[in-house]
Amino acid sequence: MRLKGKNMIVTGGASGIGLATVKRCLQEGANVVLSDIAASDGAARARQLDGKPGRCLFIACDVTSSGQVDQLIADTAAQLGSVDVVFSNAGIGGANPIEAVPDADYLRIIDINLNGVFRVARAALRQMYKQGSGSLINCASILGTLGQSGTVAYSAAKGGVVNMTRTLAIEAAARGVRVNSVGPGYIDTPLLKDLPAELRQALVKLHPVGRLGRPEEIANAVLFLASDEASFVTGAYLLVDGGFAAGKS
Ligand code: NDP
Repeated sequence: MRLKGKNMIVTGGASGIGLATVKRCLQEGANVVLSDIAASDGAARARQLDGKPGRCLFIACDVTSSGQVDQLIADTAAQLGSVDVVFSNAGIGGANPIEAVPDADYLRIIDINLNGVFRVARAALRQMYKQGSGSLINCASILGTLGQSGTVAYSAAKGGVVNMTRTLAIEAAARGVRVNSVGPGYIDTPLLKDLPAELRQALVKLHPVGRLGRPEEIANAVLFLASDEASFVTGAYLLVDGGFAAGKS
């Protein structure tokens, strides 16, 4: 039980990497708030996963709203007593070359994938500073440090997440709080559901291990960063990418 008694929030927890992390961390003894936008099936998911005595709750939160994010942290602290771990995972995809990217698409990706991580970090750290402890994990991507054609907004946002994480780790270190990011390679989740088969095959080839990742493989990395096993790990950007960033295979 690597997270026994820890109270955890996962944003974007109704699907893909977030949902796998909720399940994995419940197995390891955490009490988990599965948070997602109200329109998701998060409430039903949380009910399915809830064990005794009520270890999985749903709290709706759209990370583009500072008010909802602040409320998520406040409600979790009120209901569970503390916020020990936050996995800031909510995100959307989006692929187009720059000449075909309207302002609205660019701004939406930045607002969810980068500004959303900022809003969650600010609210989480205010709470964790009061406690004098905590672990914040931000979901970046291999595109946090590598470029890829057609991902201008997404890679700008994820690059911001990687470096925001480093700055927050420095700010938070003396307050007893660790801040890290994970950098997944391409992971087989609903985010990739609209990919044409040939593009999917091309993505597989970018990973020396010869396949896409599974959401559970990211959940295991988040579990490590959340746990006390990572007590000396802060400011890290933990790649979980099947060798993608190592270079050409
Ligand atoms: P999914 O689409 O499966 O899950 C993302 C979840 O976030 C969904 O439930 C989605 O809801 C929710 N969400 C979307 N917008 C908001 C919002 N404004 N507020 C709160 N929740 C929101 O994607 P993944 O699991 O693949 O992605 C999770 C994270 O991992 C993202 O940050 C993504 O960028 C990152 N990542 C994913 C990779 C991949 O290959 N899959 C690779 C590298 C990083 P809804 O479905 O209703 O939109």
